[in-house]
Amino acid sequence: MDLAETLAAIVGPGHVLGPERLALRDPGWCRGSQGAGLLVRPAGAAELSALLRATPGVAVVPQGGLTGLVEGTETHPGQLIVSFERMNRIHAIDPAQAVALVGAGVRLADLDAALEPFGLMAGVDIGARDSCTLGGMVATNAGGIRVLRYGMMRAGVLGLEVVLADGAVLDLTTPLLKNNAGYDLKQDFIGSEGTLGLVTKVALRLFPRPRGIATAMLGCAPSALSALMPRLRAALGEQLAAFEGIWPACFEHVARGLALTRRPLGPQDLYLILEAFGPDDTAARLALEAALEPLILDGTLGDAVIAQSASDRAAFWKIREGGGAIGSGGETVHSYDVSLRLADLDPYVTALEARAAGALPGVAVLVLGHVADGNLHVMLMGPPDLPRPPCDALVYGTLAGFSDASVSAEHGIGLEKRAILAQVQPPAVRAAMRALKAAYDPGNRLNPGKVLG
Ligand SMILES: Cc1cc2nc3c(=O)[nH]c(=O)nc-3n(C[C@H](O)[C@H](O)[C@H](O)COP(=O)(O)OP(=O)(O)OC[C@H]3O[C@@H](n4cnc5c(N)ncnc54)[C@H](O)[C@@H]3O)c2cc1C
Repeated sequence: MDLAETLAAIVGPGHVLGPERLALRDPGWCRGSQGAGLLVRPAGAAELSALLRATPGVAVVPQGGLTGLVEGTETHPGQLIVSFERMNRIHAIDPAQAVALVGAGVRLADLDAALEPFGLMAGVDIGARDSCTLGGMVATNAGGIRVLRYGMMRAGVLGLEVVLADGAVLDLTTPLLKNNAGYDLKQDFIGSEGTLGLVTKVALRLFPRPRGIATAMLGCAPSALSALMPRLRAALGEQLAAFEGIWPACFEHVARGLALTRRPLGPQDLYLILEAFGPDDTAARLALEAALEPLILDGTLGDAVIAQSASDRAAFWKIREGGGAIGSGGETVHSYDVSLRLADLDPYVTALEARAAGALPGVAVLVLGHVADGNLHVMLMGPPDLPRPPCDALVYGTLAGFSDASVSAEHGIGLEKRAILAQVQPPAVRAAMRALKAAYDPGNRLNPGKVLG
């Protein structure tokens, strides 16, 4: 029996896809995601376990919603793609425990719709919500726009079901908030990008859905960021739910790309989007107004506008999530996802712009991000033939001048950041990571080549 026949005997022939059927599917954000030419879609952990046991030595690449941004789902001939799309059941929603047990293939937007009637939601929210899956979000420890309120994915994962390289199934799906019974193995798989185990179910902590939201777009000097944050925290406490920033060059490109006819604010040194939760929209708006007023009066903040309607709010977020409009004129855009201390954000962007003007004339430095988390998404945009290596050198070379900086804030490593990770990681940390990989996956069959290379 060849590989496809072996798989078909386990999952049924309709769930083994060769190159012709694969070609009909959207490859997602990773150009080489379909290179393997062979995809299997098991119904759950039992089938996945059986197929791994029946195909020892075959390299396996897990794929969720294919929205990952670091080439973590690239595949090659001879490898096998495992898709989680049939594991799309929401097994249970327990409002008493505020926990959901969901299949790894459930999309975030679908989970959100199912939670709405219960007045609950997942803490993490990201722009790819319509396509990304809970399994992929666990595997990348996704962050997004609400990290300052709810933490990254890790903070919400109470339990996991994981299938290991040898087919062993780890049932770690306890929905308990407290569970210190031995090593907390689930932590090993969160953020491991499918290199240590395959996530088949997720027990997720849920949070009350905000009944009211107020959203503001503001202008401020980038140097004011670190003074602004503690004052906003003090004024709004747990109501502060989002704090995003867009640097002016980026704002201009997005506004032009989206062909905006009306801009919420005139020109600013830094555009901020703030969101506050409250018991209803009016209360949230009043709390936001009260928090912003002293900051405007003492000049910490420049212009400000608070959304008066759902469509105003959507218009603000359209600009923040409009990064896809960058490069729509045929330019090449190389993207990065770095993090620094809050006080270092402005010096980093200033240094980057200065160095780009010298080393890469004509290349635009476009920056936006989750500023409260110290997380910048940097895009270098230039002519169609703009090579990546000098852009990498610029972004990471500038970052090297700052302590406590990270070359990957939330997107992970995949293939794209393997080389820079190898450069910046202390040897002892790298050796510990290799030991962990060897312990879970001694044959290097799970997403080989990703993260560690
Ligand atoms: C428009 C847009 C906005 C985004 N915004 C954010 C953001 O704000 N914050 C953020 O953190 N990310 C963001 N991302 C990146 C991306 O959406 C996240 O990384 C997401 O978590 C990936 O989920 P996915 O299901 O698409 O995974 P995929 O892209 O399919 O896979 C991602 C990685 O996880 C592995 N994997 C997938 N499923 C499993 C599984 N079940 N078990 C084990 N490994 C698995 C894959 O092998 C791969 O290494 C954004 C992406 C886009 C396109």
